[in-house]
Amino acid sequence: MSRVYNFSAGPAVLPEEVLKEAAAEMLDYQGTGMSVMEMSHRSKPYQKIIDEAEEDLRALMGIPENYKVLFLQGGASQQFAMVPMNLMRNRVADYIITGQFSKKAWKEAQLFGQANALASSADKNFTYIPDCSDLPISEQSDYVYICENNTIYGTKFHTLPNTKGKPLVADVSSCFLSEPVKVTDYGMIYGGAQKNVGPAGVVIAIIREDLIREDVLPGTPTMLKYKTHADAGSMYNTPPTYGIYICGKVFKWLLRNGGLEAMRDYNVKKAGILYDYLDSSRLFHNQVVKADRSLMNVTFVTGDPDLDARFVTEAAAAGFVNLKGHRSVGGMRASIYNAMPMEGVEKLTRFMEEFEKKI
Ligand SMILES: *Cc1c(COP(=O)(O)O)cnc(C)c1O
Repeated sequence: MSRVYNFSAGPAVLPEEVLKEAAAEMLDYQGTGMSVMEMSHRSKPYQKIIDEAEEDLRALMGIPENYKVLFLQGGASQQFAMVPMNLMRNRVADYIITGQFSKKAWKEAQLFGQANALASSADKNFTYIPDCSDLPISEQSDYVYICENNTIYGTKFHTLPNTKGKPLVADVSSCFLSEPVKVTDYGMIYGGAQKNVGPAGVVIAIIREDLIREDVLPGTPTMLKYKTHADAGSMYNTPPTYGIYICGKVFKWLLRNGGLEAMRDYNVKKAGILYDYLDSSRLFHNQVVKADRSLMNVTFVTGDPDLDARFVTEAAAAGFVNLKGHRSVGGMRASIYNAMPMEGVEKLTRFMEEFEKKI
């Protein structure tokens, strides 16, 4: 068996320890004589799995009592509709556009009401985060929406917008659990698991209780109401059982390894290795404004698309896979989520240095 260094943006690398545990439990989960995949979601062992997953996530993030944790499906993209359907009671919301995912969310919200684009970094191809300290937040606004880490462009909000009292809704898909967060700064935090938390198929939403209400937009389907899932402990219907089980194992792995403070320190050091090299390289360049750089997705280019392609091919042959940038921006992207070991980034950096020397 040989494992590669997988720099995929998602589905992405998972901790090897977690995969080994899951493999060991595949045929017989803790004496039940069956795989978690084969288990009723209404069974006692499964209830314990989901309860522990929630408990561990609450411990990791310090989630207060008045926030619900929901395990949902439909991908992060389904939240682009669920957020306005559930929260846009005045039919007004403010969006900050920092990339494709916030743009998609903003477009989707326009199906339901007046979605204002308050700020955008489209003018410079999303290479920075706009100043959000004093935005013209609408009086009637139900919430302010951001995509906190921009997976495609490699930017991150290191300072949250001043929402002037309105609830902040954040898509944290690609920075979930990468560093400590102050949950009370948000009305709602959500993310797809497949970037930094677990397998595809699970979406985790953390929502302040007063935002979970029965009086959602008329016509909102039962399955798309947060209240449906909150009232049923994420068991209104069959949840993505196996995915939640793996997420739970990742939470325990994070707790064992010092929690989110330790993870942030590790991630800062890890990303620093790559950014320091990029800043000194004469071949590779990162185009993001330094203060807005992501710790999770590091984008870079040579300036020559043919050379980029050659680098991606040679890197893959050397065991550094999925370094091709998103199809809409080109170049390269190294996604270095929690489970990417320091060693993977060190070796990639050395490989880039060698490549630079021979070009
Ligand atoms: C990947 C991603 C999405 C889309 O997730 P799906 O689960 O494929 O719907 C949305 N937002 C962000 C920030 C992402 O990285």
